[in-house]
Amino acid sequence: YQVKYGGKGHHRMYCETDPAFSRKFILEQDLGQAIEENRLLLHYQPQIDSASGQLKGVEALIRWNHPTFGPISPVEFIPIAEESGQILTIGAWVLKQACRQAKQWSDAGTSIKVGVNLSPRQLHQPDIVGQIAGVLRETGLAPELLDLEITESAALEQPELVLSRLSELKQLGLTISIDDFGTGYSSLSYLESFPIDKLKIARQFTSKLENRQVNRKIVSHIIDLARTLEMSVIAEGVESENQAEILRSIECVEMQGFLFGRPVPASDIDRLLSLTPSE
Ligand code: C2E
Ligand code: MG
Ligand code: MG
Ligand code: MG
Repeated sequence: YQVKYGGKGHHRMYCETDPAFSRKFILEQDLGQAIEENRLLLHYQPQIDSASGQLKGVEALIRWNHPTFGPISPVEFIPIAEESGQILTIGAWVLKQACRQAKQWSDAGTSIKVGVNLSPRQLHQPDIVGQIAGVLRETGLAPELLDLEITESAALEQPELVLSRLSELKQLGLTISIDDFGTGYSSLSYLESFPIDKLKIARQFTSKLENRQVNRKIVSHIIDLARTLEMSVIAEGVESENQAEILRSIECVEMQGFLFGRPVPASDIDRLLSLTPSE
């Protein structure tokens, strides 16, 4: 056994060969407690219009500061929550919190959209449409200010079911984006038949933009494809001015990445929007 951390008079351990003490098991348990104690947080990352540089929207990204391990990446705990089913509770909370926040920005006279990641398991919940409709009603957020991000794999798991789900969701008036576009098994037939509003070009493509001409051409073709399908397009993971310049030159509609801002608490977005006086 490895002693991972010691709290006040107690030690927590984990051991990868004993499932009852694996890090995954401990994280799952502690996540349950964090949910109960309402200790999860949302951060928001700016999404800007390439041509004007204006803030158009933000993506809500979950944060968990573990009392002893420190910050745990959603890349680690979201799959655990997916597997355990905790994602349903977490997802419902994220949705409500993000909509509530976006409503505040809207009440302050802005029209900032909020992007919410919807996990496959959430999308496959039978009452997901009713649930989202309920959150919109309760929070009073204009549906067109909510953008749901789903991944290609979620869309393709049960294409027929997902197609009807997405159509019902669309009828609520919200928009739908494909997250990490290009990293899954993209099928042109689903892209054409699904009611999708925006493609989010995966960071993997953005980060290689400067390396070789061929990468730039691939991204350029994704942008053309989006235009053909009458969808918008946003590049994820933009980190350098050079990447941004290339993306502007190939007419990528929106950009998101550390260059424009990391995921930050809502109060930092307020400041960006000049909603609170900066000190
Ligand atoms: P994602 O939805 O593709 O979110 C974008 C991720 O890229 C975020 O990581 C963001 O912090 C990171 N990122 C943004 N710009 C840059 C950049 O310029 N450079 C680099 N290196 N990274 C950048 P994060 O917050 O760690 O989230 C990771 C993934 O966890 C998300 O990927 C999403 O799949 C999942 N996730 C996060 N929050 C939620 C949530 O509330 N619900 C669900 N179901 N999944 C979530
Ligand atoms: Mg996302
Ligand atoms: Mg993404
Ligand atoms: Mg993702």
